[in-house]
Amino acid sequence: MLLADTNLPTEELQALDAAHHIHPFTDTGELNQKGARVISSADGIYLWDSDGNKILDAMAGLWCVNVGYGRKSIADAVARQMERLPYYNTFFQTTHPPVIALSNTVAELAPEGMNRVFFGVSGSDANDTNLRMARHYWASLGKPEKTVIIGRNNSYHGSTVGAVSLGGMTAMRAQGGVPVPDIEHIDQPYWYGEGGDTDPNEFGLERARQLETAIERIGADRVAAFIAEPIQGAGGVIIPPDSYWPEIQRICDEHDILLIADEVICGFGRTGEWFGSTYYGIKPDIMTIAKGLSSGYLPIGGSIVGDRVANVLEEKGGEFIHGYTYSGHPASCAAALENLRILKEEKIVENVKETLAPYLREKWLELGNHPLVGEARIVGMFGALELSPEKSSRARFKADEGTVGYMCREFCFANGLVMRAVRDSMIISPPLVMTKAEIDTFIGLAVKALDLTHAKLKVEGMMVPA
Ligand SMILES: *Cc1c(COP(=O)(O)O)cnc(C)c1O
Repeated sequence: MLLADTNLPTEELQALDAAHHIHPFTDTGELNQKGARVISSADGIYLWDSDGNKILDAMAGLWCVNVGYGRKSIADAVARQMERLPYYNTFFQTTHPPVIALSNTVAELAPEGMNRVFFGVSGSDANDTNLRMARHYWASLGKPEKTVIIGRNNSYHGSTVGAVSLGGMTAMRAQGGVPVPDIEHIDQPYWYGEGGDTDPNEFGLERARQLETAIERIGADRVAAFIAEPIQGAGGVIIPPDSYWPEIQRICDEHDILLIADEVICGFGRTGEWFGSTYYGIKPDIMTIAKGLSSGYLPIGGSIVGDRVANVLEEKGGEFIHGYTYSGHPASCAAALENLRILKEEKIVENVKETLAPYLREKWLELGNHPLVGEARIVGMFGALELSPEKSSRARFKADEGTVGYMCREFCFANGLVMRAVRDSMIISPPLVMTKAEIDTFIGLAVKALDLTHAKLKVEGMMVPA
């Protein structure tokens, strides 16, 4: 048996990986020809691969390592908890100190009126919980026909059957026999890609009002909830026009529909506020949390449940026949608690809002002047660059969608930077603990990757609009 810290040469590790490990979101045939990059260690905002290359991680893993890598105090808190009580369940009228402490801490941080937490192990299972909880809420109120949940095209809510059904990723929805019944979708508030000549705020209103049209078509007596990410992440860091969220809130209120905010990325400081809902001034009934809750140090997710829903479930719901073996896992709770202590005591969220985000914003928006960039947009530490062969028209490339984004991503990776490509846009969600000097280094690496991509596109005659 190999040890977890095995130090074999890269090619051997790659061969063993290819032989026995199936990767998520991966074309296995393609990867196994090429070999996966082996990430061996990390500290702060940097990763090291098995060949000793240093890589600046502008994605914070998968949008999650908010406090940065190498936090010994989290490892210590987990080790202490593992020794005292590595596991116990919370199903049969039992509880334990870490889950008590974490639910209280999360309730303190959550917006007013959101005081209870249901735990799971990921964002996906939390959204499955939300799907069942929203329907069970209405059933408990004697309205079992209010079952329809409205989501959005190109939204991401995770990869379980329920989460894929709520989400709007076409390619995901085409595999595996989803969706769950009674889920509908409206269009996303993606002005750059779909707004044409419409004024952005006008477009935001139009897209929000699709929710009202859908509710009127389906009947408000049939609709349980609307679910959306405050800012879409995996869909391409899509920042809605300012007009969008207030209108969504109005529509949910007027038609008596629950609002579920999927805060898996936006939560815990990404926007410079503790939650994306606070950033946009909305009042959700349920918020999905995961990722930044533990900065990815251990798996944990859940639902923060507002008083409106929690009180009905308590008074009329009876048994909520739902849960996970690892709901409120003690070691994961210990990791999350120490992560939240770091976020609070180091004033990381305030520092993002007051110092880091304004600095990053200035540099990031300057990239909008690069000849390959059609738009640069950013909120907090959460941004996108739309690559385009023709800035003025926001044109797409003639090459297949995703070709140019992938090319740029490869140039990033080869030059010590992780940015992610979504279609032909480059997206970032770095740790919330960068220094200004690290932001400068990051921007330098991003410019280099853009320059290399631009040069290659010109040589290959690919700076051509579709
Ligand atoms: C990542 C993500 C999820 C899914 O979380 P997992 O922990 O991967 O299951 C759900 N919603 C959003 C907005 C996400 O970004």
